[in-house]
Amino acid sequence: MQIDVITIFPELFGPFLTTSLVGKAVTKGLLEVTVHDLRRFTLDRHRSVDDEPYGGGGGMVMTAQPWIRAVREVSQGAVARSTQSRRRSPRRILMSPQGKRLDEATVRRLADVGDLLLLCGRYEGIDERVLATVIDEEISIGDFVVSGGELPAMVLIEAMSRQVPGVVGLADSVEKDSFRDGLLDHPHYTRPAEFEGLGVPEVLTSGDHAAIERWRRRQALAATLRKRPELLETAELTEQDRRWLEELRREEPDR
Ligand code: SAH
Repeated sequence: MQIDVITIFPELFGPFLTTSLVGKAVTKGLLEVTVHDLRRFTLDRHRSVDDEPYGGGGGMVMTAQPWIRAVREVSQGAVARSTQSRRRSPRRILMSPQGKRLDEATVRRLADVGDLLLLCGRYEGIDERVLATVIDEEISIGDFVVSGGELPAMVLIEAMSRQVPGVVGLADSVEKDSFRDGLLDHPHYTRPAEFEGLGVPEVLTSGDHAAIERWRRRQALAATLRKRPELLETAELTEQDRRWLEELRREEPDR
């Protein structure tokens, strides 16, 4: 996976790209992230990237020139660097509260695309002509506004990195993540066996792996029913799942 990022704050990405699973993925070459400073693509002496909005009002707007030049040059660079047999331009994604709300299906779709160029806005946003000319899609991390696209870009990169084989140690733990099959994850327990009077479900210490798998699946269904019941409408459910759901609904009739 090859990701280019354009931002006026490249330094925000430093620790993120060298720490924990993302850091390891970068070291192993499973994930290649190149962060570009937008100011490098300005033409004026002051390297300015923003100006006052036409029509007045508060705040500043990012100007089109540096963005369009940056997107064109970084895309060309990405194509030249690309190791894939079919050389493609990266998919150009603007991080934006107006974009499609990020979910697991979108994370997987973009991870499959592989080559991405992420644009991080600041201030009031970017001159609309950038969107009209060099953007393929807009992605939002949720219906709220943060002050820049950098954290949203990191959210997307970290989520996508989990889809790259070898990034998360046990492939298993990604397979069972929340949303993978449309359900939430089952509860987890670790030592000690008793903590402040609270024990651990007996089945987990039984050594009976089939029983543990059944318990986990039923608990995943229970968690989804309790916390995000609407997910059950689109989840992949077996006949056994449906029987368990009936039981669970009888146990908590208001669901
Ligand atoms: N005035 C704009 C918000 C600007 S916030 C509007 O209301 O649409 C500045 C930048 O932060 C945006 O350009 C975008 O890159 C980023 N940003 C803010 N909220 C975001 C979100 N929920 N998802 C993704 N990016 C976001």
